Amino acid sequence: MDRICQTQGCGAVIPPQKGSARPRKFCEACRPPRNRPNPRVIKLPTTPAPEPDTTASVPPLVATYRERLEVAGRLDSPEGAHVLLLASLLTGGAHTASGAAALSRELRAAMEVALEGAPREPDKLDELAARRAAKAAGAS
Ligand SMILES: [Zn+2]
Repeated sequence: MDRICQTQGCGAVIPPQKGSARPRKFCEACRPPRNRPNPRVIKLPTTPAPEPDTTASVPPLVATYRERLEVAGRLDSPEGAHVLLLASLLTGGAHTASGAAALSRELRAAMEVALEGAPREPDKLDELAARRAAKAAGAS
């Protein structure tokens, strides 16, 4: 025996009940099952997450100095911090020519101080010279 939707004016035939669920009194058009999205819920437009602004990253000059300091193991030293401060000052603002020149001088001096006594990887040239010297010593 078919059941009829009890909504007034609907009168849709309810299909035979599947499984052990409670028999429906209303058709699916009138009372959507719970696991279906409620058609009355308005979906808010989802705003995409703003992409990280990569243009606001560290300026190349500062990044270069940071790299050099890191290689030398001086990134965490006060002298290294001084270098990075000067580098970001140099790149960060509008300077007059003489102001930029003065900052550049300061930066180079600070870098020299920061790298003083830092362990340095042997140069390729140094290596070559050492090898030549060893060869010469062996030959004689
Ligand atoms: Zn109905």
